[in-house]
Amino acid sequence: MSHSIRENIKQIRSEIGNIKLVVVSKYRTIAELHEVYETDQRDFGENKVQELVNKYNELPKDIKWHIIGHLQSNKVKYIAPFVDLIHSVDSLKLLQIVNKEAEKQDRIISFLFQLHIAQEDSKYGLLEHQLSDILSSNILPLLKNVKCKGLMGMATNTTNTVQVEKEFTALKLIYDKYSEENQWDTLSMGMSGDYPQAISCGSTMIRVGSKIFN
Ligand SMILES: *Cc1c(COP(=O)(O)O)cnc(C)c1O
Repeated sequence: MSHSIRENIKQIRSEIGNIKLVVVSKYRTIAELHEVYETDQRDFGENKVQELVNKYNELPKDIKWHIIGHLQSNKVKYIAPFVDLIHSVDSLKLLQIVNKEAEKQDRIISFLFQLHIAQEDSKYGLLEHQLSDILSSNILPLLKNVKCKGLMGMATNTTNTVQVEKEFTALKLIYDKYSEENQWDTLSMGMSGDYPQAISCGSTMIRVGSKIFN
């Protein structure tokens, strides 16, 4: 198995050039994460706060931790001391809490707005008009301890690549519309099943789990 984790990461790196790889380590053991770390991988993603905190405590401190799943306001305080990038900001209210907790830690926390691009309604995220409202709100400039780096989105879980590319293209268009004036540099889209499409549609960061560990 250790052989395959290394080989899988090597294979993915060879396909993606300078696109940033976040290894999604949810459900995986500390031993497996050590194997990933040994390949010089430093960006790891988790979708649950408790699991992220546990792994942070057990693993080397030069790892950059990404929270990629839905984030509850009352859990922000647990990750605020160390989180590198929050991919899942989906309300101004949540962002205000992140800012408050970042201020307590004397940090500036980087984040992405999560956009809803899939057809499934189970997925979280903002619609474009909601993003636009937040970006133009007079509260946003007051939040000095958070920094927006861009957008994140998840495509519909389907083998229909036309559908998936349509959704990624829609997200890229929204990204392009706002990225210059906001000095964004990160478009987080693409997972095990769809990262080649995401990259062809302009992704700068992919989040890959099962393809590495299975
Ligand atoms: C689990 C997860 C991933 C990785 O999914 P895989 O299909 O295992 O690569 C990416 N992004 C989010 C938000 C996730 O929850």
